[in-house]
Amino acid sequence: MDSFDYIVVGGGTAGAILAARLSEDPRRTVLLLEAGGTDRGFWVPIPAGFSKLLAGSAFNWRFQTEPEEATYHRPIVVPRGKGLGGSTLINGMIFVRGQRQDYDGWAQLGATGWGWDDVLPYFKKFETFEASDCDTEVRGTDGPINIVRVGERPVLSEAFIDAAEQAGFPRNPDYNGKDQDGFGYYQVNQKNGRRWTVVDGYLRPALS
Ligand SMILES: Cc1cc2nc3c(=O)[nH]c(=O)nc-3n(C[C@H](O)[C@H](O)[C@H](O)COP(=O)(O)OP(=O)(O)OC[C@H]3O[C@@H](n4cnc5c(N)ncnc54)[C@H](O)[C@@H]3O)c2cc1C
Repeated sequence: MDSFDYIVVGGGTAGAILAARLSEDPRRTVLLLEAGGTDRGFWVPIPAGFSKLLAGSAFNWRFQTEPEEATYHRPIVVPRGKGLGGSTLINGMIFVRGQRQDYDGWAQLGATGWGWDDVLPYFKKFETFEASDCDTEVRGTDGPINIVRVGERPVLSEAFIDAAEQAGFPRNPDYNGKDQDGFGYYQVNQKNGRRWTVVDGYLRPALS
């Protein structure tokens, strides 16, 4: 193949999703260009491996800011993902949608189509929220990106959430649901205890 209908530059989060969606039309050819390598690496699927990934350069461009007065002349580390999957190979996997009022505020300021009710169908389409108490009115159950609650329940975290409740704040089992207020556990991009990247969700299923 030496010509393509679309060329997408960068196989990270946005590029992989764009390429996968464009290629859903079998009449179209799509070339996805990625400056890094594949997503295969020992530490990539292991959630706790992210500190190793940040320290290395196999999947991290390891950018730094220029030293400047405001940073006491220190360079500041700016990690960015490298390789198919981009920053989803090295990120913290924490999944937060944002709250209704933010989106509605933007829509009121003129960002037509970006109100909460406008974006909610896309959030739902994007995800599979793997939870027995999943509220399907606001959460998706058959999208490409897998979301779970972190599995661990450390005693200190439980005590912290209990203390919040005792202080009058609600325990919130789903901060990505109807209401973001309250205390609860993070939701993360993982499946079966492993990191779930944009390659897993979008690119690999599109390859065929
Ligand atoms: C350390 C870290 C932790 C994070 N934690 C979280 C988190 O917990 N939750 C959350 O929601 N978000 C988190 N993020 C942010 C999130 O991962 C990014 O916002 C998102 O992945 C950015 O997507 P993107 O498509 O803009 O860029 P990327 O996913 O970074 O993709 C850009 C791609 O383009 C490639 N590229 C660059 N230049 C070229 C070129 N000239 N030619 C070809 N390819 C090129 C790069 O190699 C890379 O693969 C984190 C990010 C980092 C770095």
